[in-house]
Amino acid sequence: MNIPFVDLKIQYAGIKTEIDAAIAEVISKTAFIGGAHLKSFEEAFANFCGAKHCVGVGNGTDALFIALKALGLGAGDEVITAANSFIATSEAITMTGAKPVFVDINPATYNIAVDKIEAAVTPNTKAIIPVHLYGQPAQMDEILELAKKHGLKVVEDAAQAHGATYKGRTVGSIGDVACFSFYPGKNLGAYGDGGAVVTNNKELAVKVRMLANHGRIDKYDHEIEGVNSRLDGLQCAILSVKLKHLQKWSDQRRANAYLYNKHLEGTDLVTPVEIENVDAVYHLYIVRVKAQERQKLQEHLKANGIASGIHYPIALPNLKAYAYLNHSENDFPEATKASHEILSLPMFPELTEEQIIYIADKIKSFNK
Ligand SMILES: *Cc1c(COP(=O)(O)O)cnc(C)c1O
Repeated sequence: MNIPFVDLKIQYAGIKTEIDAAIAEVISKTAFIGGAHLKSFEEAFANFCGAKHCVGVGNGTDALFIALKALGLGAGDEVITAANSFIATSEAITMTGAKPVFVDINPATYNIAVDKIEAAVTPNTKAIIPVHLYGQPAQMDEILELAKKHGLKVVEDAAQAHGATYKGRTVGSIGDVACFSFYPGKNLGAYGDGGAVVTNNKELAVKVRMLANHGRIDKYDHEIEGVNSRLDGLQCAILSVKLKHLQKWSDQRRANAYLYNKHLEGTDLVTPVEIENVDAVYHLYIVRVKAQERQKLQEHLKANGIASGIHYPIALPNLKAYAYLNHSENDFPEATKASHEILSLPMFPELTEEQIIYIADKIKSFNK
């Protein structure tokens, strides 16, 4: 049996009529930039997140950069984030001129270790970026409390967690501002690049919209310099169609994660842990394997037609890109250890129990 890591074709097949009609409509109206499709998607996505404002931008990395810029971040400032994430999170900090400050992870959830944040706060710290990694909400109550105590802004990196909930609140409406990616493989994926900034703060939303549009509100009244970062009409029309299906897809991802948990019982793999009172949306399904066995297990799976991945093989502070911070692997023992042990198994809404059982069986045969 061949099981891909993600299957975007099967999803398209299920919504082809709706998608094709949406694309044809945008083209017939040549509504490529701005306009009605953008406005209606922004409203629908803000509503989906339980937030007041949404600004569509070019991609998730831009969303983070623009949100940080809108908060006034720049040279001399420090921003705290998790040692285990995709590099876009820390890149966006550096792009503003601020310095990324990494904090180790909670080994059970792979998200930022909330008990280690305070030690990283200095007089220059201005913000925290919790990442809801793999679709698992970060421990937001503890983070919000620390932020309040130290006067820090909270920027949610929700690129992997569209629709996840934390104690009844939807991710994206919990911090000061939140950033989403609509990269095709994300839980809500465009057919190209896309991103969004979501916030309840009207003033901040206006600033974000200006920064994403060359620092202007109207045609040539540039009050500041910004960038060009747009969510185009085709992507908005596609995303509007897909947004209507997202809750169902998230439920299917979660159900698939629980099926994996059940069928992997009795193996020596460590399956994902959820914190209390959340609906995780399983962008990825991560297991832990003994470091010395991981590569062999991946090869065994591959030989049986099963794709797998590693997210991420090198913790951010251990990357060459951050050598200038002079960290050693001992500074982030949990993130470093996890980077050697984690393995991502196929995860997408349409994955079937039969496929999950097949994967679990192949893992069991490897264990023997
Ligand atoms: C995908 C991703 C981003 C960046 O999004 P792009 O749309 O690819 O720029 C940022 N943070 C995290 C955690 C991501 O997974």
